[in-house]
Amino acid sequence: MSTKEIIDFRKQVVEEVLELYPEKAKKNRRQHITIKENNECASCAVKSNSKTVPGLMTARGCAYAGAKGVVWGPVRDCTHISHGPVGCGYYSWANRRNLAEGEIGVDNFVPFLFTSDFQESDIIYGGDKKLEKIIHEIVGLFPNTKGVSILSECPVGLIGDDIESVSRRMAEEIKLPVIPVRCEGFRGISQSLGHHIANDAIRDHLIGKGPGREVGPYDVGIIGDYNIGGDAWASKKILEEIGLNVVNIWTGDSTIEMLQNGHLVKLNLIHCYRSMNYMARHMEETYGTPWLEFNFFGPTKIRESILKIAAMFDDSIMEKAKTVIEKYDAEMQKVIDIYRPRLEGKKVMLYVGGLRPRHVVGAYEDLGMEVIGTGYEFAHGEDYDKSMANLKDGTLIYDDVTAIEIEEFVSKLKPDLVGSGIKEKYVFEKMGLPFRQMHSWDYSGPYHGYQGFPIFARDMDMAVNSPTWKAVKAPWTK
Ligand code: SF4
Repeated sequence: MSTKEIIDFRKQVVEEVLELYPEKAKKNRRQHITIKENNECASCAVKSNSKTVPGLMTARGCAYAGAKGVVWGPVRDCTHISHGPVGCGYYSWANRRNLAEGEIGVDNFVPFLFTSDFQESDIIYGGDKKLEKIIHEIVGLFPNTKGVSILSECPVGLIGDDIESVSRRMAEEIKLPVIPVRCEGFRGISQSLGHHIANDAIRDHLIGKGPGREVGPYDVGIIGDYNIGGDAWASKKILEEIGLNVVNIWTGDSTIEMLQNGHLVKLNLIHCYRSMNYMARHMEETYGTPWLEFNFFGPTKIRESILKIAAMFDDSIMEKAKTVIEKYDAEMQKVIDIYRPRLEGKKVMLYVGGLRPRHVVGAYEDLGMEVIGTGYEFAHGEDYDKSMANLKDGTLIYDDVTAIEIEEFVSKLKPDLVGSGIKEKYVFEKMGLPFRQMHSWDYSGPYHGYQGFPIFARDMDMAVNSPTWKAVKAPWTK
């Protein structure tokens, strides 16, 4: 099919799927779906960051998920209280794979769930007293905690509790930062506002308030890498090999001190723009700390990123950067030689959160695969604009896609691989389609950096070329 025929066919698919809706829902959803067609401005074509239509089975989460699950939860030497009833903390307990070093329960509290476990009496009389008691218990039981964060769940904001004043009092008493985070799930329309609220809490309670330190000429911070399956460690390795000194990571395997000293670097390198651009901008405006976006998925993007980063420093760094690229290009070529012939020409459809729907495209292309559809749960207009350059004409783009839409799009476009989340995985596998989880890396990873690409390639091959797919249909039905 020519590009024009592909575009026409996909437009027709979109219209057919929209026909499933009542008039009002159809009108709303049409604005969130587009096909890339010689347009550079996606934000004009795709409406984003707006309320979900009720009852259409969105894959979105809430502000608490964005603040606790994503930004705060990975900070390893801080205890994070899920403040409210037990559900939100329980369901978000240890299921995001943000790895951290340290001894569990001693100076690493990431795998724990701390909850105030609201009962009816806490709703009626308020939970502030209980919160104070819990903070006392925490510092008694976990004396190495370097701070306490309070992640509000829905009821906290509705019953009028004053967690800010509890935090102020308790911070003085225990002589540690106590950080109130107003991330109740009813705020905003997705995880995205939770990121912003969580960033603002770092701004208001931590940044610039730490022990401080001298800034070395090659000190950098990685911002917005949550170390899923060891991603941030793989990225750190490259940066150190080119001569830079990674002193902070936000927030995968992070510490309270790293958040306090985030501005004390020569350059902040931002991987997840969506979740942490707020703090990167704040550090630049308030402390003059520059920042740069980069992409460590797949050798092509890694090469481009290394050169862009090295250009911010002196010749010695550039020299090392070129040596590192040369060394690893040869290694990555070996990976490509093995997997590209097995994956060449395979089509992929993606649906992830706020960064990966555009960031992983290059890694697929390094393996000869083509992304024919992609979309975000909670991106904003600028994310769609940033995506455009990475996508081919004819790519189907969907924002806050609903369960029925993604199912229909996949059955009609027939990709060879779907990359999305746990809620989607088994639907597509039952349809007989290879699937890889692109949030949890399907318990594999890392996928970032030179360490990650061979694992990424192996995993995609394992899914696409698994013999299982030949056994989906019973022989007597073939
Ligand atoms: S919407 Fe409210 S109740 Fe649901 S997970 Fe988020 S904070 Fe918890």
